Amino acid sequence: MKRIALFPGSFDPFTKGHEDVVLRGCALFDEIIVCIGDNSNKNRRFPVQFSVDKINDLFQNNDAIRASSYHGLTADYAKEVGANFLLRGLRNTTDFEYENTIAQANRHIFTNLETVFLITSPQYAHISSTIIRELYKYGQDVSDFVPYSLS
Ligand code: ADP
Repeated sequence: MKRIALFPGSFDPFTKGHEDVVLRGCALFDEIIVCIGDNSNKNRRFPVQFSVDKINDLFQNNDAIRASSYHGLTADYAKEVGANFLLRGLRNTTDFEYENTIAQANRHIFTNLETVFLITSPQYAHISSTIIRELYKYGQDVSDFVPYSLS
């Protein structure tokens, strides 16, 4: 059976920390779908479709990785695309508390859906989309943190 993982997130924007999780995930899964939940579009800094296109461009030479958006529950989308794994990253205990709750809930809804966590690589541990949005808003160069051009 093909091991397909969803890597769900806001990715507003997708960062070098996210990219690292995806590339390391390639050793574990046959296919990784980076997917952006389209529920909170109005609060985003970068539009969903813009980010999906940028992520697809970034991984255009890797057939095992693609990006998409979805509506509704992540577990339902996993079922729809035949994914039996969720991939998530962990930076610290705050991430852990949050991820633990979400993973338990998802597993309750869809018993075969396992969440697999990759601990952040230390050089990316400090990178967050929130900080990047803040720096970008005030005109700072964020190219060290984002693997594609934001324009
Ligand atoms: P969400 O809004 O669902 O938390 P994010 O786009 O912020 O989504 O993050 C998606 C996933 O990537 C989460 O599991 C988050 O913990 C993880 N992540 C974010 N930044 C990093 C990083 N620098 N290193 C490793 N994992 C990260």
